Amino acid sequence: MASKKSRELRIEEREERLKVLVAAVLAAEAEEEGDAWEHETIDDVEDAMVEIGDLVAREVGVQKLARHTEKVKDDRCPRCGHAGCRVEDRGREIITRRGTVPVSEAKYHCRQCRRDFFPSDGAIGH
Ligand SMILES: [Zn+2]
Repeated sequence: MASKKSRELRIEEREERLKVLVAAVLAAEAEEEGDAWEHETIDDVEDAMVEIGDLVAREVGVQKLARHTEKVKDDRCPRCGHAGCRVEDRGREIITRRGTVPVSEAKYHCRQCRRDFFPSDGAIGH
């Protein structure tokens, strides 16, 4: 990471931003649920922690991986070096430690080699 900020400072800033987001999510849900929270147990609270944590982790993966796959840095065929043409996008699932994350990748075609290739493969792995 190119940031000059210390790791502790970045973690503190991230924590503050997440507090704002979580407060907004919980406030919106509280508005929908009324006073149902008065009857929830510690197990209900723990279930919500896990569920929201998993959703946040997945969304972080979706958005960060999309940055890698949206921009094609090198459209040259890995076999012959000629520029390829973008033909379509394909969706696939990346398996992470926090579950599968969907990504969309541009598929390119090389007219010389008559084959397709995915320039983003090198950026995020297979
Ligand atoms: Zn080629």
